[in-house]
Amino acid sequence: MKLDRILPYAKKLLEMTINSGDVVVDATLGNGHDTLFIANLVGECGRVYGFDVQEDAIRTSIERLNQHGMTDRVTIFHSGHEQLSKLLPAEHQGKVKAAIFNLGYLPGSDKSIVTKPETTISAIEQLLEIMIPEGIIILVIYHGHADGAIERDALLTYCQEIDQKKAHVLQYRFLNQQNNPPFIVAIEKR
Ligand code: SAM
Repeated sequence: MKLDRILPYAKKLLEMTINSGDVVVDATLGNGHDTLFIANLVGECGRVYGFDVQEDAIRTSIERLNQHGMTDRVTIFHSGHEQLSKLLPAEHQGKVKAAIFNLGYLPGSDKSIVTKPETTISAIEQLLEIMIPEGIIILVIYHGHADGAIERDALLTYCQEIDQKKAHVLQYRFLNQQNNPPFIVAIEKR
């Protein structure tokens, strides 16, 4: 048996959670790879809400979705994910089934623009309010850069303190790999 590697495991969690017609959040659009993957899973009747603070990420994601004919089922916000509950329409509050955060910086872009623990945690807290029970939040934590290590520590502290009556928190991580490869924290709302 071969253990799932980190990014394939994140995709597997999304596949196991998301069904046709679901409402899903991509909290960090980046180059739009996850958005496209999720857009396929929610199907024509589903809805994906994507967030990013960088113009480049917005443009690249829209281009990718256009190339695959998926723009109709995705709403993109040029805004931080910490604005999530303000921006999601009332009809979908309380209906979010899954969310993914691919943390860190946009590959090939300005490495000083990174996700930050305060805003990431704020978005997680908002999601825990507006998700359906058994909805999943997936964090892919990149901690090989200085800000990433700070964000990792803050997120692990926060996640360890989430009341177990409110959510189950899983960590999926290879313990003996060098160079701080990414790992997953998955939060299942109860
Ligand atoms: N999931 C992406 C993909 O499939 O290509 C990769 C995401 S990349 C590692 C992280 C992204 O988070 C960057 O594009 C960055 O601009 C974005 N970001 C940083 N702070 C943010 C915030 N507060 N809200 C939303 N996105 C943010």
